[in-house]
Amino acid sequence: MMRENRTVSDKTGPISRATEGTTAPAESSAAAARSPGDSAAEGEKKQLIKIDRPRIERAVREILLAVGENPDREGLRETPARVARMYAELFAGLHDDPRRHLVKSFREKCDEVVLVRDISFNSMCEHHLMPFMGKAHVAYLPGSRVVGLSKLARVVESVARRPQVQERMTEQIADLLQDELRARGVAVVIEAVHTCMTVRGVRKPGSLCVTSAMRGCFRNKASTRAELMTLIYGNHR
Ligand SMILES: [Zn+2]
Repeated sequence: MMRENRTVSDKTGPISRATEGTTAPAESSAAAARSPGDSAAEGEKKQLIKIDRPRIERAVREILLAVGENPDREGLRETPARVARMYAELFAGLHDDPRRHLVKSFREKCDEVVLVRDISFNSMCEHHLMPFMGKAHVAYLPGSRVVGLSKLARVVESVARRPQVQERMTEQIADLLQDELRARGVAVVIEAVHTCMTVRGVRKPGSLCVTSAMRGCFRNKASTRAELMTLIYGNHR
């Protein structure tokens, strides 16, 4: 099968790192103060409330009219409401602060790479409002603090659930972890299929877009980066 691999390598040039060095030292504790006891369920409820579903419904009805459909025929009658509920879910991350998932970290001596591989995600390409989906591999070399493994998946989820481009999503996850965990290094590799490329436009089904963002030791040390790539791709494909 034909594959179009696009790899944004850390060697291709300086990556814009606007947030570097600008993070206030007390940011983690400030985030903790902002959301005391904000459970995952409560957080999700709050995100959904902020999305104006009636407005989406009106807009979807307009689109149906614009393409020449009859939005009042039986099969389409419930569609605007269904799409509104779906968008509320798909864009819920817009009203979420992914940092809240990293507030609870704990002190732990760890000199080895922590990797969560194959975190599946769905996101929405902001250029076409078409889904792109795939897997994220998220790794870090802890400083003095570690975070629950599921929290890495939560961060991916939060960053994915908004209009996105894969390149930015990769950088955002890496910067968030680097800033919040004060890790010695962070690596994020994302592989995704973009439906805006597979069902329209150039129509290349099977093409996979690969992006990576490396920080700290993963960026500076070839051996650490090589170890990571073995962990991700080593013996399972
Ligand atoms: Zn697109």
